[in-house]
Amino acid sequence: MGAMERRVADLWFTEYQTPNLRLGLRIKDVLLNKQSPYQHILVVDTDQYGKVLVLDGAIQLTETDEFCYHEMMAHLVLCAHPCPERVLVIGGGDGGVVREAIKHEAVKKVTLVDIDEDVINTSRTFFPNVSCALEDERVEIKPMDALLYVKEHFNEFDIVIIDSTDPVDFASGLFEPEFYKDVHKALKDDGLMIAQTESPFAEPKLLSEAFKGLRSVFENVYLAWGVVPTYPTGFWTYSVGSKSIDPRIQRRSAPKGTKYYSDDMHPLAFKLPPFVREIIDGD
Ligand code: SAM
Repeated sequence: MGAMERRVADLWFTEYQTPNLRLGLRIKDVLLNKQSPYQHILVVDTDQYGKVLVLDGAIQLTETDEFCYHEMMAHLVLCAHPCPERVLVIGGGDGGVVREAIKHEAVKKVTLVDIDEDVINTSRTFFPNVSCALEDERVEIKPMDALLYVKEHFNEFDIVIIDSTDPVDFASGLFEPEFYKDVHKALKDDGLMIAQTESPFAEPKLLSEAFKGLRSVFENVYLAWGVVPTYPTGFWTYSVGSKSIDPRIQRRSAPKGTKYYSDDMHPLAFKLPPFVREIIDGD
């Protein structure tokens, strides 16, 4: 192969994760590159992580490691609740969290509220293993702004899962105490909510502020953590807000066939390294 041919074949996607940190993935193919009414949607194919969904330049999921994130977001709260019948998923248009939620027989209905229908359809087209539960009869899809949706619902959900993009533009409100208050109102008395709260290495301030915001609204807030290789630094956090029950206690077993979450992992996920505790407990 000549020098020119080598250069043409050597295509890379670069994610600008922070002003000082980038992730580079060699790409085999660009499968979709479009602007939706809300955000830029890119799907690339890679040798390292399979197909990758990118929104406004930020990796949302890869075929290879999506299970690490989706299983934790769903099962940390669903397995802690005694009887999770009604589940609300905010964001999460790819369907990965919904796929995990309907693995629980107790779940009677899952409502998915994502502002961007194009993300949902992109996942249906390119990520069938992630979006496969979106057609399940227990799943209701509402393509709308979740900030408006939660205002209209009171004492209705056992579980609320906030699977949002990073806090910019139309997603920024999803990290604010005003929104957490509406989520609190939408939950039943023994309800639990979980939100992804970024990396303690890449975004310690964001983690600390989101956690503080949740503490100002919920009776009890707990932090859990896990590994997601393609999210900035690979070290990811999940904040759990509770009105009454302690989510560190697993009340129901993990569904069969999980690859990251397990009965052993549940209590361990809530054990924090001291530097992370300092971030959430400091001023
Ligand atoms: N797991 C991903 C991550 O942390 O990188 C997030 C995945 S999911 C695709 C994020 C979704 O949140 C996007 O599809 C986006 O459209 C949706 N979203 C952002 N702001 C929203 C809002 N205000 N209401 C409803 N959905 C919103």
